[in-house]
Amino acid sequence: MKCPHCGKDFKDSKQPYRPFCSDRCKLIDLGKWISGEYRVPTLETVDNDEENSMKDPEEE
Ligand SMILES: [Zn+2]
Repeated sequence: MKCPHCGKDFKDSKQPYRPFCSDRCKLIDLGKWISGEYRVPTLETVDNDEENSMKDPEEE
């Protein structure tokens, strides 16, 4: 399989960093996500106050 970060071909057997070829690529890729280089298409979540008021009174 190919590393999605560097495109390097590697054997995925016993590869703990799948789908990446190494921990480096994995960390770099994760870093991109964290730094916002990749835009995550977030679904528009509807914040409904009415839902909050309907939660069960079993908190205590
Ligand atoms: Zn790689």
